[in-house]
Amino acid sequence: MTRYNQFIAGDWVAPTTNSWFEAVDPSTGEAFAELARGSHSDIDRAVSAARMAFPAWAFRDALERGRILSRIAQRIIKDQETLARIESTDTGKPLSQARADVLIAARYFEFYAGAVDKFGGSTIPIPGPFLDYTLREPLGVVASIIPWNYPLQIGSRAIAAPLAVGNAVVVKPAEEASVSLFTLAAICADEGVPSGVVNVISGFGEEAGAPLAAHPDINHVTFIGSLKVGRLVAQAAARNVVPVTLELGGKSPHVVFSSANLDRAVPIIIRSFIQNAGQTCSAGSRILVDREIKPEFVERLAEGIGRVQIGPGWSDPDLGPLISERQRKRVQHYIDLAQNRGAQVHFGSDPSVGQGFFVPATLLDAVQPDNPVFHEEIFGPVASVTEFSRESEAVILANGTEYGLVSAVWTRDIGQAHRVAKRLQTGQVFINSYGAGGGVEMPFGGYRHSGYGREKGMEALYQYTQVKNVAVFMDE
Ligand code: NAD
Repeated sequence: MTRYNQFIAGDWVAPTTNSWFEAVDPSTGEAFAELARGSHSDIDRAVSAARMAFPAWAFRDALERGRILSRIAQRIIKDQETLARIESTDTGKPLSQARADVLIAARYFEFYAGAVDKFGGSTIPIPGPFLDYTLREPLGVVASIIPWNYPLQIGSRAIAAPLAVGNAVVVKPAEEASVSLFTLAAICADEGVPSGVVNVISGFGEEAGAPLAAHPDINHVTFIGSLKVGRLVAQAAARNVVPVTLELGGKSPHVVFSSANLDRAVPIIIRSFIQNAGQTCSAGSRILVDREIKPEFVERLAEGIGRVQIGPGWSDPDLGPLISERQRKRVQHYIDLAQNRGAQVHFGSDPSVGQGFFVPATLLDAVQPDNPVFHEEIFGPVASVTEFSRESEAVILANGTEYGLVSAVWTRDIGQAHRVAKRLQTGQVFINSYGAGGGVEMPFGGYRHSGYGREKGMEALYQYTQVKNVAVFMDE
């Protein structure tokens, strides 16, 4: 079994606890690697390495940083198959999805490589004999605590955007899936990122995540994960007066009106809640449908999930296992709960393979808004169906959870599409689609308890810089 040490200041360093934990393949339930069990002293070392490396990196030309990021992108593309196999083994995700994740990871580096030398401040026309301009300067050390659902993709955005504008980073991947982050750190070093600019510390949330979030020498925290932990991270950062970006998941609705093109909508909606076994913050897991078309629509969805192939990640099915037994039990609990509260359940095919953490694609029909599955993030291949009879009712239902990450409107009525899009309280709205390519270029983040701050696109570069205003008196 490969053993992964921490990546600190360009070196592979044994954890100060001298203990490791197992990385498990969710398709088989078997361990395949060992990961360093990080603690606060590893975090201290990583933060101080990043602090030391920061000034020189920040003072490099944007062009030069961009070129390094560009080389990382090329290397990720070259190593696509190796990275995809690592990711599929570590997370259980189907190989094709892992391959797509790798290309999106490369795209983050490519996008920010191209963006950074076009990103700058502005000149401001102020009264009097002054020249007034702003500079966009890096923050310093950026701490990123990331989840297990898309480690390589999310890890790449956690590294590419802050690095592009001159920050150094310390990344804490999730204990359930960390291996691809170590591979990525090695690629960054190979392609010219100086020692200490990228550091990766594996370990458990309370042992490694909490000391990173609370570290007095970091300048920004990005957290992606549960609402419960997001609150803790924000509190810890507040004590140090450090800005935070929080991305905390969702309960994203599809609003399907009677004029919708169901031939297009049905397969996209199914994909939106089974992709990555539904363990996606933006999963389209809450389907709201016009009463007029509901019977036909539900029949088509049920037929569709009946065709979903399920199996181990390496066999490249449509649907792989969940990340862990804990997550499988949690999803099963929600399915039982929905059933007990009167939902009608349609299941896709059963995996009947080995010891993996499988749950079939599941549709929960006739879900009332007071059912917990209507409100709570399940994080499994499960969607609820609720009917409405008027547009205004659809909007109230769509906005009827504490989350607000993504939504979709399905209609052929262009006025209705824009009217409803304007009223939905989510950070992204798709019309007659769900997702648009890898989403690297589009700002992404939540309304309400889905979090705050925006990642992806040019918005991320604003998050990872601070503004300095310079006023020059020009009269003699
Ligand atoms: P989590 O929030 O516990 O874990 C996310 C990350 O936070 C991991 O790296 C973890 O080690 C770290 N962490 C945990 N406790 C911490 C602490 N006290 N301080 C600092 N860091 C800490 O999420 P989970 O338990 O893996 O999953 C639970 C639920 O969270 C899921 O079922 C899902 O609903 C949600 N979730 C959302 C996303 C998303 O993409 N928004 C990702 C993963 C999980």
